[in-house]
Amino acid sequence: MPGTKITPEDRKKIDKKFICTSCDMLLCTPMQTQCGHLMCFACLQTLLESSNPRCPTDGTVLEKEKVYTDAFTKRELNGLCLHCTNQGCPWHDTYEALKVSYGGKKEM
Ligand SMILES: [Zn+2]
Ligand SMILES: [Zn+2]
Repeated sequence: MPGTKITPEDRKKIDKKFICTSCDMLLCTPMQTQCGHLMCFACLQTLLESSNPRCPTDGTVLEKEKVYTDAFTKRELNGLCLHCTNQGCPWHDTYEALKVSYGGKKEM
């Protein structure tokens, strides 16, 4: 799963470090590369499986052994207050709650 789509308003509000340097959406399971850039776990996996894995931002050659989960950013991300991307939906909550609702959508 690549990054999470967010509303343009939320995007303006949040720090751009939370935006994946690969898919340009909100990070989903942030991973940090050895050059200090953040990417979604899925985006990084795709990159690492390519024949020439490089950081999309600065071109650093990426190695599986040198990337790690960014637990701190993950915690910060989960606390972000986001709005539902469905137009007209007044619902907003933390990223953590949003992910849960996306995962198991209940019929109203
Ligand atoms: Zn991504
Ligand atoms: Zn980089």
